[in-house]
Amino acid sequence: MNDASTRSVTHSRAVERLVRGVQTSDGAGVRLTRVLGRELQRRLDPFLMLDAFRNDNPDDYIGGFPDHPHRGFETVTYMIAGRMRHNDSAGNEGLLESGGAQWMTAGSGLVHSELPEQVEGLMEGFQLWLNLPAQRKMTPPSYRDIPAGAIPEYAGAGVRVRVLAGESHGVAGAVARPDTEPLILDLHLPAGARFAQPLPAAHNAFAYTYRGSARIAGVEVPDRHMAILANDGAPGVEIEAGSDTRVLLVAGRPLGEPIAQHGPFVMNTADELRQAFADFQRGDFGRTVLRAS
Ligand code: MN
Repeated sequence: MNDASTRSVTHSRAVERLVRGVQTSDGAGVRLTRVLGRELQRRLDPFLMLDAFRNDNPDDYIGGFPDHPHRGFETVTYMIAGRMRHNDSAGNEGLLESGGAQWMTAGSGLVHSELPEQVEGLMEGFQLWLNLPAQRKMTPPSYRDIPAGAIPEYAGAGVRVRVLAGESHGVAGAVARPDTEPLILDLHLPAGARFAQPLPAAHNAFAYTYRGSARIAGVEVPDRHMAILANDGAPGVEIEAGSDTRVLLVAGRPLGEPIAQHGPFVMNTADELRQAFADFQRGDFGRTVLRAS
């Protein structure tokens, strides 16, 4: 039995800063919070973006994300509540449901749509963008649905840990990526519980509280705030829950390569961005057909 609450690291990484994110909208008018935006891409390399959405007004999500292209990185979508349909130009289709994830490698390029399959109720989740190293940016696109039941979990002392990627307390996650060794954990912590996770010193890391209130190295991380964890040589992070709390804990090995982004394309140079646009406009990414509903 893994007892997450009693395992500890000798001392925790400090909170370098708290980030609240920016209210914005994307796709066809989906209201969301951009927690990790461009100004943090260097600091949180290899992660390029984190959007959090939690809407119970259908007007704020019903338009979804119609056909749009991507090249050069991966998108990880994690659904807390709701249903979203995915279609892409590589011929993949999937239904993302509560507790499930979708791991899409855009690689050399695809066009996809992400559309809500509900007309009422709560839509809540995250989309995290993970960069690819230069030598893998033009890898063929691929797609994987990870239903809720296929995400490895462990529990101890009331703490429940869902391991989307990486490894935690001996439990291997649903996805592994040797280039950046991403760790993506969804932590469910009852009031007063503690959770400790070792982290390689060079890996960039952050924790996003999406319920309740967490405490890390003496700093309160309130609901809907991200704590950037300092690369201060500490052997890991220790998180304590102030109330019933849920936290997304994310870490990865930085690539240390140039980042050139224009909208949905993330490459290493401006020339590669121009090439991406030219290829897309020529139709090289293919086209998806919006699902008739
Ligand atoms: Mn997309």
